[in-house]
Parts: sequence; C-alpha cells; structure tokens
Amino acid sequence: MTTKKKELILKGIPASPGINVGKVFLFGREQYVIPRRGIREDQIPNEVKRFKDALLQTKNEIVEIKKRISEEMGAEHGQIFSAHLLVIDDSMLIEEVVSRLKKDKLSIEYIFQDVIRRYIKVFLEMDDEYLRERISDINDVGRRILKNLIGAKEDVLSNLKEKVIVVAYDLSPSDTATMHKKNVTAFVTDIGGRTSHTAIMAKSLEIPAVVGLESLTKKVETGDTIIVDGTHGIVVLNPSAKTLKKYEVDKERITAIEKHLLELKDLPSVTLDGKTIELAANIEVPEDVLSVIAHGAAGIGLYRTEFFYMNRRDIPTEEEQFKAYSAVARRIKPASVIIRTLDIGGDKFLSQLDVPQQMNPFLGWRAIRFCLARPDIFKAQLRAILRASSYGKLKMMYPMISGVEELRQANAMLEDVKKDLKKESIPFDEGMEVGAMIEVPSAAITSDILAKEVDFFSIGTNDLIQYSLAVDRVNEKIAYLYEPAHPAVLRLIKTVIESAHNAGIWVGMCGEMAGDIAMALILLGLGLDEFSASPIAIPEIKRIIRSVTLRQAKEIAQESMLLSTGKEVEKYAKKRLKEIVPDLALEVD
Ligand code: PEP
Ligand code: MG
Repeated sequence: MTTKKKELILKGIPASPGINVGKVFLFGREQYVIPRRGIREDQIPNEVKRFKDALLQTKNEIVEIKKRISEEMGAEHGQIFSAHLLVIDDSMLIEEVVSRLKKDKLSIEYIFQDVIRRYIKVFLEMDDEYLRERISDINDVGRRILKNLIGAKEDVLSNLKEKVIVVAYDLSPSDTATMHKKNVTAFVTDIGGRTSHTAIMAKSLEIPAVVGLESLTKKVETGDTIIVDGTHGIVVLNPSAKTLKKYEVDKERITAIEKHLLELKDLPSVTLDGKTIELAANIEVPEDVLSVIAHGAAGIGLYRTEFFYMNRRDIPTEEEQFKAYSAVARRIKPASVIIRTLDIGGDKFLSQLDVPQQMNPFLGWRAIRFCLARPDIFKAQLRAILRASSYGKLKMMYPMISGVEELRQANAMLEDVKKDLKKESIPFDEGMEVGAMIEVPSAAITSDILAKEVDFFSIGTNDLIQYSLAVDRVNEKIAYLYEPAHPAVLRLIKTVIESAHNAGIWVGMCGEMAGDIAMALILLGLGLDEFSASPIAIPEIKRIIRSVTLRQAKEIAQESMLLSTGKEVEKYAKKRLKEIVPDLALEVD
C-alpha cells in the first residue's frame, strides 16, 4: 500500500483512543447552489406550503434522530437535538421568511437561504459565547431544511458503502449521529477541543478520533491513505510503507493486548504481595457506566458533573440532577461513585451561568470559587447529591480547593443542606464521605492541614501539573513542557500522599496521570490507594498492579525521586516497567 504522495505527520488533540488505518472520505459541507428565481404572485401560497412541508419533514427527521441517539447513546446526547428543534419552531424565523417571500417574490429556497445567512452573520457578531455557539445548530438545521426544500438526497455519512475514515472541517452532532455504527472507522476534524461534543461522542462510539488539526482538510483528498492514532493525537497522511507497517504492528499488538487485558475484567486489582488497590474509572455522563463495568473497574472515582450543564440554555434542576446521580449510584452499586461538584470555568465555559470573559480563565472564577459565590446553584447540586446518596454508595468531592477556608465554607453549605433535608424528613446517607481534590499547588503544600478536615483526597493532576509547572494544559505550543514525571510534580504528589496517610485518610488520583502506564509503578510505590482513569485505561493498569510487589514499586518510586528531570524519570520508569511487564505496548527509548 505505498503511495507516491509525500508522507505527512500531524499532531492534533487526542479525542478518542485507538488506531485505525484507511481511506479518507473528505466530508465537505456541500454548498447548495440556489439560483435567484422569480415567482408570480399566484405561486406564493404554494411556496409557503412547500416551506411548511419542508419544516415538518425536517422536524420529523430530527425527532427521529433524537430518539435513536437517546436510545443508543443515552438521553444526554439526545438532548443536543432539542436545540435543533428550537430553531425549527422559531416563529420569528418563519415569519421573516414568509414576509420576505411575499415582498421579494423570489423562490422560497432562495429567500430561506438568504435569511439563514443573515441570521448567522448577526450571531457571529454577538458577544455572547453561548449564542455564538448556537451558530452550528442554525447551520445544521438550515442545511437540513434546504435539503428537504430542494429534494436533495444527503446524509452521505449514513450511506457509505465501504469503510472509510472521515476527514472534515467540523462535524455537527447530527453528522456524528448519522455515522453511528456505520462504515466510519475513525474521524479527524480541523477544529474542536478535548471537551467538544464531537470528542465526547467519539469516545462513546469507541472509534479513534483526533480533533484540532487546523488545516488537514486542505491537505487531503478522498481516497488518500491515512492513519489515525487517537491515543496520541497523531495523524499520518500518505504513510510510507515503513510507517504503515509500524502502525499495523502497533494496532495488532494493541488489539491482542486489549483482548488479553479484558480477560482480567473480573479479577481483583491486587499486587503480588497482597495489597489491594482501588481501581476506579472516570465518567462524564451517566451512560458511561456501561463502559466502566465492561472494562472491569471497581467503581467510579470521578463523575464530572459539568457536562450536565452543557448544550442547554437553562440550569439543570435539583430533580433532574437527583435522577441522574441516583441512576448512576444504583447502576454501579455495591461499588461506589465519587461525584465531583460543579467545576465550570477554565476551558469549560457555560454562558447560561453568566461567567464573564476572564483574562486568565484557569486562574479565575471557576469551580469551587464559582459555587461558593452562587449558593443557589451549589446548594441545589448538594441537595441532589445527598438525596441520591440513599440509593447506593455515593461519595462527593470539591474541585479546585486552594486552602482550608474554602473547604470550610463548602462544608458549611453542605451542613445547611443536610439540616434542611432533615427538617423535610428526606433520607440521605449521613456518613457519606466528603473529599477534596488536590489540584492547586497551595492545596498540595498544605495538604497536612486539609487532611484533618476531609475523608479523602483525590489528586487532579491535569490541573496540578498545569499550575505547578505554569504550563497551560490546552496550549499545544508548550505541550512539551507538560510533564507528569517532572520532579516538582512527583514531590507534590509524595507530599499529598504522606499527609493523607499521616492523618489516616485514603488518597486517590483522578487526573489523566492515573491512566498513564509509564507512571503507574511510581504512583503505586508512593502509596497511592486509588487510581481513577478513563475506562479504556483500566485493564492495563490492573495488569501492572497484578504483576508487581508493593516492595518492588516502592523501590522504583524511591529511585525515581532521586532523578533530576522528567525525562530521566520517564525513561527509568518505562525501563523498569518493561522488565516487569515485557509485553505492554510501551515505547522505551
Ligand atoms: C484534574 O484536573 O486532574 C481533573 C481530574 O479535573 P478536570 O480534568 O476536570 O479539570
Ligand atoms: Mg481539574
């Protein structure tokens, strides 16, 4: 499978893990060419009728997609299409189209396209991020209505006859939905971030995906060969025979290992010398519980609740949250789930919550800082969590704690809510464990103080690394500085674990580092009690835990702490891991 075109290796943002090789299908948003066609006065009623028919047909299509997606992927994903239905029912839009039709006497498709373009232009100029985000909804629905007006056949993604890798500038939720379980083996987009809906959906589809490749669509043609490595966020266009071979071997190895690893599903995560380690998984939406169970995790160590607040205009009610939290608690029981209270801000921007634009969003008004300032929102969530606690084994933790005062304030609000519930005779688990995430260096450094006032710690390395090394976690330009193995990071982690154990509480880790196999032996040796990683990382971590003694891991951690740079630590840790588990998919240089 050699190709004369030059090999091109591009780095994007990993959105969904795995490797696939295939032929490119360049998915363009075809622009319909609509001629400016005049109509007679007596044709107006028929044009209005055609418009109304197209609206109805579009509405039926969207209701159908919404239903299918809710069934296959969960109500949370189906929710996106509610925004599309709002666009169709927008009476201002409909009235404007009809009145322009009567005035200009041009074909309905021409008028409609013109009105939609104007809408998009107005939205583009708006300051409100939420409204600007709605452009993709208007675009998506507008194209669908236009397609039905001119009777075009589209939905190419659901009619693919052979297996392809989709390359697109962007994919709308309905595009991603139509490709579900079809012939799409991976996808790649020019725009998008880790937390974009496209990325979230890719994970649920369990196909590799890389986003944020900037201008890939300008470099490829349909039929080109492409490799998508969703684990590392790498795309290779027109790979040489040598590269192809390398990735094919990697893919085969990964598939074989995955199969083998899944056989560990029902075995405990215990070291060779008998130390049991809690191995839990991270989830974004309640439907992810299925994947947690399928990969053999013993519970949920981080349930990120902010996804609940995304893609909607309103704030989720206490009742709605209660239903979701209690459903997760019921499904995962007797194992436990740790619900992380709302962590918006940073790169998770939600304009319905009125968070202003900030110069340094990651250092700004986010997470617990926002919640303490908005007790209305925070207490509704706390009530929902407490109420759900009587349906399974629930624990709760606060994000972004930077010192003990914040922790006390949050706990005071929790006590208020508990009092209210008692007054209302609403049952909850009075012994529910409450923990703090340790993701700010000040919290790590004062972890001895914090440890006296919580039931557990969970180290959020995604943020802890960015704050301690001063490296923006979403900036690709400085990604080389983002080093989990950096001695500063390891020292902070060691401090946190020691503080926890001195105070007699347990300590886990829920940042991506917990799923990084190269770091697993060091973390184990430092005394981490719980690892919580994305479900697909669980089998490998379990395998490592089951292959080593705690004594060996301690010795590796001690050696690592003596090294001077992140690179040295990583190299050493990988070398030792390779000796202990030789057939792991691990590059050691
Ligand atoms: C972290 O910071 O490590 C973490 C788990 O939280 P998030 O990635 O949601 O910021
Ligand atoms: Mg965090």
